[in-house]
Amino acid sequence: MPEFQAPVGTRDVLPPESARWERLVALFADRVGRAGYGLVISPMFEDVGVFERVGESTDVVRKEMYELEDKGGRRLALRPEGTASIVRAWIQHRSTLPFKAWYVAPNFRYERPQAGRYRQHHQLGIEALGTDDPDLDVEVVALASSLYRDIGLSRVRLLLNSLGDGTCRPGYLELLRSYLEEGQEQLCDEHKAGALDNPLRVLDCKRPACVRATADAPRMVDHLCDECAAHFARVQAGLGTLGIGFDIEPRLVRGLDYYTRTTFEFQAPALEAAQNGIGGGGRYDGLAEALGGPPTPGIGFGIGVERLLLACDAESVFPAPEFLVDVFVVDTTGGEVAVRVTHALREAGVRSDRSFGDRSMKSQFKVADRSGADLAVVVGPDERARGVAKVQSLRGGGEEEVELEHLAAHVKRRLRP
Ligand SMILES: [Zn+2]
Ligand SMILES: [Zn+2]
Repeated sequence: MPEFQAPVGTRDVLPPESARWERLVALFADRVGRAGYGLVISPMFEDVGVFERVGESTDVVRKEMYELEDKGGRRLALRPEGTASIVRAWIQHRSTLPFKAWYVAPNFRYERPQAGRYRQHHQLGIEALGTDDPDLDVEVVALASSLYRDIGLSRVRLLLNSLGDGTCRPGYLELLRSYLEEGQEQLCDEHKAGALDNPLRVLDCKRPACVRATADAPRMVDHLCDECAAHFARVQAGLGTLGIGFDIEPRLVRGLDYYTRTTFEFQAPALEAAQNGIGGGGRYDGLAEALGGPPTPGIGFGIGVERLLLACDAESVFPAPEFLVDVFVVDTTGGEVAVRVTHALREAGVRSDRSFGDRSMKSQFKVADRSGADLAVVVGPDERARGVAKVQSLRGGGEEEVELEHLAAHVKRRLRP
């Protein structure tokens, strides 16, 4: 075993697997770029207060955050989630509203490693600040939904809920509290004690006891004020217009105070139920204020890359490419031709490689086979003298002689007739 290994709960992503990541990020950037979202790169660590402010009552912040003190005595935390950093950045720079951002970044959680969850995992996400128009909720949900389609997932379920706002939620929480108080003994061990402090967490609890005990609990969607009800209706109508199916899930809560109104989650039924969430988000109209900024509504989502790729594996879609090059140049005349030819092929847009170190024809062909290339371009002394190359299939099939100046065009035709 080597002396150093990636720390527990982390992993290396190597080629060719990493090529899926490249493609995923490129598809995502293209997809959200077309809707006016721009890349935001924010620090991987923040003042610990940024995250404490937004999630005091959550496990993510209470138990799972990587905190550190730097040599200057600052209390910092590695980002456990994406939204707070982006909102902090907006407050600091006050970019024009609406502010539409996308990001791809590692998140850090000190938790027991499980399938698709790592101590360093990666998220793709967007945040849109500056309007509480429900049409923006529709846009955000639709962008996530489109990404799943882009990568070929066909079995994705969208769950939708509204958490109300400062007008209607306090009354609802009272109802829920008294309901839970009555059945407190039936709750799971964790929630028997703490249920009344944060009753929404009980709805979120996946343990059978809590699920049973809250089956008939009052639902936020039945107690929305007029404004929230209208907002929620407009979101549903918009999704309907776009042909995006959804199920209302009254148990879908995000346990943070700043979450308001629309909340949603995408699930991949192809994955095990406890770990089938492949993305989610919601509206957080109170977050900017909680972080010391002006009242600024916002909404966003995050998609965990590792979990998403597990869902792709489960549906056998969006595979890692097996090989990284299409053409392999074999030069037995010392390598000078290979220098020129691979360069010319790459300039022409052809994925091509060669071997190094002046090896024999036989050993160069071995490397060519391993590379997975479709075609070999072969130059020996005779070809070199005449300014030509032999182009031959590495998967059986014929060989042709081609003048070097026409080589790139010929190869491109053979690869993609
Ligand atoms: Zn529970
Ligand atoms: Zn309301």
